Amino acid sequence: MRYCSTRGGVQGWNFRDVLFSGYAPDGGMFMPETIPTLSPETLRSWKSLSYPQLVTEVCSMFIPTELIPAADLEGLVSAALSGFSLPGVVSLARLKGELCVLELFHGETMAFKDLAMTCTVRFLDYFLHKESRRAIVIVGTSGDTGGSAIQSARGLSGVDLVVVYPWGRVTPVQEKQMITCLDDNIHVFAADGSSDDIDVPIRRLFSDQKLVKQHCLMSLNSVNWSRVMVQLAHFLYAYLHVSVPEWAESGGAPPILEMVVPTGGAGNIAAGCIVKQMGIPLRLVAMTNANDIVHRTVQSGDFSMATNVKQTLAPAIDIQDPYNMERVFWLLSGKDGALVKEMMEEFQTSHKYTLPKALHQQLSQVLTAGAVGDQGIVETMQRCWKENHYLLCPHTAVAVWHHYHCPPTAGVNRCYIATASPAKFQAAVQKAGLNFDLPEAVLALDKMAARYLALERGENWEKDWESRLKQCIQDIASVRQRGLTYYSTQYN
Ligand SMILES: *Cc1c(COP(=O)(O)O)cnc(C)c1O
Repeated sequence: MRYCSTRGGVQGWNFRDVLFSGYAPDGGMFMPETIPTLSPETLRSWKSLSYPQLVTEVCSMFIPTELIPAADLEGLVSAALSGFSLPGVVSLARLKGELCVLELFHGETMAFKDLAMTCTVRFLDYFLHKESRRAIVIVGTSGDTGGSAIQSARGLSGVDLVVVYPWGRVTPVQEKQMITCLDDNIHVFAADGSSDDIDVPIRRLFSDQKLVKQHCLMSLNSVNWSRVMVQLAHFLYAYLHVSVPEWAESGGAPPILEMVVPTGGAGNIAAGCIVKQMGIPLRLVAMTNANDIVHRTVQSGDFSMATNVKQTLAPAIDIQDPYNMERVFWLLSGKDGALVKEMMEEFQTSHKYTLPKALHQQLSQVLTAGAVGDQGIVETMQRCWKENHYLLCPHTAVAVWHHYHCPPTAGVNRCYIATASPAKFQAAVQKAGLNFDLPEAVLALDKMAARYLALERGENWEKDWESRLKQCIQDIASVRQRGLTYYSTQYN
């Protein structure tokens, strides 16, 4: 299994190098050179696998045993997924009116990102140990990625993690999940700015090749192929549990499954498209909030950013740049790296691009889309509660809106991806006038000690933040070199 860039400039990379790189050197994103196909027999034989076993099978299609032997892979995945609050790791809720919800939020930070992040961090740690090296991971977050990365990396000996979050712009639960981790390898900064502001100093650090090489700096956002790879299991799990039982009864051709996904960076949509190309008859529905670029792209080929990010009740998908669409464009254009390069370079400079007719046609065959405002989010949460006593997080509500407004075609099964627990987004729950008991794990956060460093917004904040982060990286390196701990005193 070899990997190439969506922009055609890089080929023949292996999984290990792709894992450590994030973006490809030509600015593109890594994809497998060939997408493996799944035979109906293989699919049927996976029916009774546990979630960790399924993830292991999926990963083994993309990670050669020379890089991670089978037994090691199984151990890494099972360790990664051992901290979940459900023994089954994920679960399917079947509600009134054939509303079927795939709950992916039973990890430590109660968002689906935990699933792929824990596995990816374990893979990273595995290679670092094998090579007797250390890495410093830098993550800028709008809320959920930071918490997942922290919980995944805490206590690991090969990795230091630096997280920068936008102070005052994440929910109180997201914030507490990030600042209450006191492990010696976790370093959290609260920046007085937006997540776009945070990207500025981080991008500068990564453009310093000497610094990157010297400290093995890397990122872990969903540009990283490994996270998308682990997310393939979401779609396969849904197919195995919603469609395969029916197929076993009826025989004939495998039935179509429609997967409805709340969409921001389009990582899940990219994963869904790959699973479709593996031969699973999926249809995808990308639902957005008022930040509707994916909706407009599917509707009319208008791949253009709005002037501003709108703040909505579903903040994890308040995203302007759905960067994983690059993977979707590459797949649907028949792996046309030259076209994708031209498209994405144009989009990155002018923030707009109109899809060529043929590509738009391909896209609309695989994907439908919709956009939901805050009112629609609130109404969906209320209706689902009224009918089922089941509380949706605002992002999941963006998807489930589709259920109440666009009933499924007869004979087509549907499944909605639930990306987070409502406990993480209490303001939205209150806005909907709903009440619920907070889980113990959330209540416990209030009593925990916290530690973080503030990045204040002075006149020269860009330079200032960059030099603070750089200092932190150098301090970490020097402490580790001398075999010392970073935090000699516990903060309270
Ligand atoms: C990250 C996130 C999303 C968006 O994920 P993509 O697959 O990148 O579009 C949706 N919901 C929640 C709660 C998230 O944290």
